[in-house]
Amino acid sequence: MEQIHHFIGGEQTPSTSGRTGPVFNPATGLQTAQVDLASVEEVDAAVASAAAAFPGWRATSVAGRVKLMFKFRELVDRNAAELARTISAEHGKTEADASGEVARGLENIEYACGIAETLAGRFTEQASTGIDVYDIRQPLGVCAGITPFNFPAMVPLWMLPNAVAAGNTFILKPSEKDPSASQMIVELFHEAGFPPGVLNLVHGDKVAVDRLLNHPDIKAVSFVGSTPVARHVHETANANGKRVQALAGAKNHMVVLPDADVDLAADAAVSAAFGSAGERCMAISVVAAVGDIADPLVEAIRARTEVLKIGPGNDPTSEMGPLITREHRDRVAGYIGAGESEGAEIVVDGRRNEFDGDGFFLGATVLDRVTPSMSVYRDEIFGPVLVIVRVDSYRQAVDLIADNKWGNGAAIFTRDGGAARQFQFDVDAGMVGINVPIPVPVANFSFGGWGDSLFGDTHMYGPEGLRFFTKGKVVTSRWPDPATSTVNLGFPTN
Ligand code: NAD
Repeated sequence: MEQIHHFIGGEQTPSTSGRTGPVFNPATGLQTAQVDLASVEEVDAAVASAAAAFPGWRATSVAGRVKLMFKFRELVDRNAAELARTISAEHGKTEADASGEVARGLENIEYACGIAETLAGRFTEQASTGIDVYDIRQPLGVCAGITPFNFPAMVPLWMLPNAVAAGNTFILKPSEKDPSASQMIVELFHEAGFPPGVLNLVHGDKVAVDRLLNHPDIKAVSFVGSTPVARHVHETANANGKRVQALAGAKNHMVVLPDADVDLAADAAVSAAFGSAGERCMAISVVAAVGDIADPLVEAIRARTEVLKIGPGNDPTSEMGPLITREHRDRVAGYIGAGESEGAEIVVDGRRNEFDGDGFFLGATVLDRVTPSMSVYRDEIFGPVLVIVRVDSYRQAVDLIADNKWGNGAAIFTRDGGAARQFQFDVDAGMVGINVPIPVPVANFSFGGWGDSLFGDTHMYGPEGLRFFTKGKVVTSRWPDPATSTVNLGFPTN
């Protein structure tokens, strides 16, 4: 069985902790690898390697750093198909979907290639007589990224390109459920020629995470994962005086106004709810159907959901793959039963789908007439379950979103520009889609939600990500009066 090791100081580093975790192919249900789970000492070794590399890396010119970042970009691009296959084999999502993930990750490397422009400071000449003022942004030191299973390539690439391009050194602690994509990214990073220790990879679980949160040499922690763990990471890192951003869970609403194009809205709802088996923090999990569009919309969603092709991610005809683990699949199926017993109407029941073999498959489910008190509405299910809440008015839909504790993304479907603009003004969410169900910002903007979807105050990647990984310094400078210079500057002499 394949063993997946840490990568510390530019080398594969087998663990000595004696602890490993299983990695599965969710489409077959078979274990394919064992991943090392780090001890405190192994995390310390990675931090020591990153700390040793920091002075040299920080002193490397911006031009030198960018040159390596371009090479890294080329290598990831050249290996994109292999990376997508690797993601699909451990996560379960279709290879087409995994390719999309790699493309979004690449955007973030490309943004980091522009660091000469994005990191440039401001300069005010003659702010006071003979005085210039300018600001610079400097790296923090050793930074850590802790990432979830659902985007095993894209989320690490939300963090590490900006952090490294800005002159930091970095430790990545990816999800132990699908660690091979980050292994591949770290190998490509070294193939690009980055010095050993600039990027270190430590696999592990709570032991590794808690050591990163407590280690005195870690200056900043960037986290993406579930809300309870995000809260723990934010509180612990904060208490230890670290800079921290912790992106968390979500329950994203799609509001469909009565004037919307039913086919467009139904296509969007089905792809945004069931793509990647609903295991996306920006998945649409609630459709708020306003007024009399509800009946035709539910019917259009039902018709599309029933014909979704569910199968292994490496079958090009599959539109949806399995879930990440057997336990998670069973948990999601449990929510369908809970929704039914709490009074939701089952429009499509994913538990009825039959699958060959032991893969962690579950069919797509649509629940109608859901109310905010039901667990299927209150909880993040993180699976292929779409709930429909019927509301009477636009205002009720906006209030529904405001009353929900999360605030990652929200979308509206309408033909009315004024209504869309009002929604953008009103809605309590960090990312808004107008006839776009999954409004993930491109890499020169930043990604982040509101409420329980983000702990901390900076969003991730783009300008805010760069800001997170740098600290500001303002220089106020005065030189001796030029009239007194020993160099002849052309001033009249006495
Ligand atoms: P998770 O919280 O279980 O794990 C995330 C990371 O935390 C992993 O690296 C894991 O090893 C570590 N971890 C898990 N339990 C821990 C504990 N008790 N103490 C310390 N560390 C721990 O999340 P997941 O299941 O891998 O990912 C799915 C979740 O991530 C969903 O809730 C999803 O909404 C969220 N997510 C959010 C965003 C966003 O941008 N807001 C993006 C992607 C995923």
